[in-house]
Amino acid sequence: MISVTQARKILSENTERAGVKIISLEESLDLHLAKDIYSPIDVPSFDNSAMDGYTMEYDGSRKEWDLGEIIQAGDTSRQKVVAGTAARIFTGAKMPEGTNTVIPQELIQRDEHLGKIYYDLDQIKPGSNVRLKGSQCREGELILAKGTVITPGVIGLLASVGIVEVEIYAPPTVGYIITGDELKEVGTKLIEGEIYNSNGPMLTALLKKAGIRVISGYKASDDKEKLQQIINEALETRNVVILSGGISVGDYDFVKECLENAGVNELFYKIKQRPGKPMFAGKKGEKFIFALPGNPASVLSCFNMYVKPCLQYMQGLENVWKPNKILPLPLEQKKKPGFTFFLKARREGEKISILGGQQSFNLQAFSTANCLVELEEEKDLIEEGTLVNVYDL
Ligand code: AMP
Ligand code: MG
Repeated sequence: MISVTQARKILSENTERAGVKIISLEESLDLHLAKDIYSPIDVPSFDNSAMDGYTMEYDGSRKEWDLGEIIQAGDTSRQKVVAGTAARIFTGAKMPEGTNTVIPQELIQRDEHLGKIYYDLDQIKPGSNVRLKGSQCREGELILAKGTVITPGVIGLLASVGIVEVEIYAPPTVGYIITGDELKEVGTKLIEGEIYNSNGPMLTALLKKAGIRVISGYKASDDKEKLQQIINEALETRNVVILSGGISVGDYDFVKECLENAGVNELFYKIKQRPGKPMFAGKKGEKFIFALPGNPASVLSCFNMYVKPCLQYMQGLENVWKPNKILPLPLEQKKKPGFTFFLKARREGEKISILGGQQSFNLQAFSTANCLVELEEEKDLIEEGTLVNVYDL
């Protein structure tokens, strides 16, 4: 049995970045850039108006202009505005030659009859309301760093500089295997002794949230031959294989034996932690295998503490093993010494509350938990106010 710290160290030493892939902007949401991105153009690529209004060469003193052309956004045919003349202009339209300022239409009086406009306030300085060429970014400037997660805003930025494809870390493909004869799928009727398979839907959701696109769920009964067959198949077709249940010491817990038969090399088995003591991790070549104890709380905790950081590192993230926050414990906690405890908790800003119903079969607290709080291995009492590691779910 190893400590939580040792488990993290072993996994971090065995995880590598995934291969890179070029994909279209449309498909890139939530993935991570595998390369720095430099803008191929100046943005804006021409000086343009930031307002609907009137444009002219303004020196700060003149108050009256003859009105000339009308310049719509996208219209580039009008080239020059003669001195003493103003042009009607709209937001995003190219500034014509011979102008330096846009005065918003609300501040202008217009005499249709004389074809003149008047501006009588001192609010506008020469040069106002013009978006200058290159004021967002210059051609060749670094606009996004390698590892950046592609959010809707990042997609907008990339599109604004004309980029249609990006190089990303290809998320690994994942297969998960649910084991247990007592499990029924949601949507069917339970008979005495059966329970619903809640780990399956939860794992799908956890994986989606971790950026995984290709997720296959398998179901295996507690039968050695059948389990072996499914493990072999998942290992052949997927980069990462996750198992739920069957890894403990019960008579029908065949997962470890079947993984050994499939040629999986053990990285560790059993961690000094609660929940999730009998967790197994292994590798077969480049492929990662995680066998999580079947209790739903163990799945939630082990996934977030070990599987998620590995998947994130593969996809280009940094600092994946660090807690999101270090915060004072709101109430003293008694615990069994020799085990790290992960408690379901809720964090609002810098305040945490430890939730009731921490038993590993109890899913009620899952709906309110948004983080896990780590209580260190050695102690049997963690005092109120002790700084503890907090991991967002
Ligand atoms: P095991 O690790 O197979 O001994 O399972 C531990 C506990 O978790 C047992 O009470 C199982 O019934 C329960 N369990 C196992 N798999 C699931 C699942 N997919 N959904 C809900 N509970 C499960
Ligand atoms: Mg079982």
